[in-house]
Amino acid sequence: MAGGGGSSQGIHYVPGTELVMALNHWRLAIDSHALNFPGAQHECCDISQADFRWFPYAEILWASPECTHHSVASGRKRIQLDQVPDENGEVLPVDAAERSRATAWDVLRYLERMILRGKPVLGGVVENVIDFQRWNLFEPWRKGFELLGYDIEIIHLNSAHAHARKALWSPQSRDRFYLGYVHRSVGRKPDWQKWLRPHATCPDHGAVRARQDFKRKDREPWGRYRTQYVYRCPRAGCGQVIEPLALPASKAIDWTIPAQRIGDRKRPLAKKTMDRIRDGLERYARHLVVPVEGRQGKQAKPLDEPTRTMTTRRETGVAFTPFIAELRGGASKHRSTTDPLCTVTASGNHHGLVTEGLAVPYYGTGRARPLSQPLGALTTVDRYGLLKAQIEVEDCLFRMLEPEEIGTAMSFREGYKLLGTKRERVRMLGNAVTPNASEILVSAVVEAITGEDIEPAAAPC
Ligand SMILES: [Zn+2]
Repeated sequence: MAGGGGSSQGIHYVPGTELVMALNHWRLAIDSHALNFPGAQHECCDISQADFRWFPYAEILWASPECTHHSVASGRKRIQLDQVPDENGEVLPVDAAERSRATAWDVLRYLERMILRGKPVLGGVVENVIDFQRWNLFEPWRKGFELLGYDIEIIHLNSAHAHARKALWSPQSRDRFYLGYVHRSVGRKPDWQKWLRPHATCPDHGAVRARQDFKRKDREPWGRYRTQYVYRCPRAGCGQVIEPLALPASKAIDWTIPAQRIGDRKRPLAKKTMDRIRDGLERYARHLVVPVEGRQGKQAKPLDEPTRTMTTRRETGVAFTPFIAELRGGASKHRSTTDPLCTVTASGNHHGLVTEGLAVPYYGTGRARPLSQPLGALTTVDRYGLLKAQIEVEDCLFRMLEPEEIGTAMSFREGYKLLGTKRERVRMLGNAVTPNASEILVSAVVEAITGEDIEPAAAPC
């Protein structure tokens, strides 16, 4: 049993699972889900009011309950925010938020109900924002699982590091709290570390499975990647900080979608957005030497690298790595497309893609052309040069990411159907669990339940 499209997709990839039922408070979300999982039962209801006596039994329960910080007062504020038109002039219908989502207590209520029926739910996962653990009733809530006979594990995982077997690794930095639980009657505990250690490369030991290390040892593990924890090489005597493998945001971008020159916009971008783009340009610009003709390949080289023999005519220029300007909120203003995307939220699309205006015609066509070109997963912009030594904001190309790209950033499979307007689809995606995270977490639970090993994802070549 699951809450939405993301968790269901991930669970679907785990051998031996079958979706029994999906519940959501939002009609559009549950209708979208039904299109993709026609075999399961679907319910749209105020989950906090649902009478679980009439609900089917499920061996595994995935729950993404309402964030407790969105209580009545802040909930109202959130609805008002939804009524602010976005870049496409769209607002969200009130029914996207008016019904109550499941609360954290409803998870315990369902588990207790099944125990009263004589068949305990064998295991599951609760997902939430990391501040969920700061809820003042968190302790009694957690204690509830133990009182109902469950062993629990508190997990802090960034979706960029959930190295799933089947689901696309999410090219997004998304820090979330998870509570995994397995009933003691199962007799085995999940091997969480097997699933949670991401692939990484240690400069001294090569390919390893990195070990999560929280900076503060005086309290329970909690927090975000980099800010509150890092990953280290697991080898004895090493332990250096290493970066887990992660897909870059460029993986989510459809480079064939045209973008508009900022100077040509009818409705100018907000000053704050322009400032962020200007700031991003300074951050990601690199000086390049661009060979215009040459037999040694047409690779542009950064000026700080050893210069090749200058036998050919050349030009110098400035290029920048395409980047995402973050239009609202967040701790950062922009992020390179070679890094994972910043967190997708439900409040609206706020990812603006900034690419270059004109490239030097060193491809031999003699024509300058826009640089909205496909970038391989790990290639750099070194092969692009710019005629001008300076890049004006007005000359850059800009567009918002499309819902399909947001979907890829959320690790949704290609072709997953979502109903509604652009903004509604982004809302559903922002609320979702990334399937790569639900896949690895439920894999750990299923292994404990069945006692059969599942092979985790190999490191990509
Ligand atoms: Zn090492």
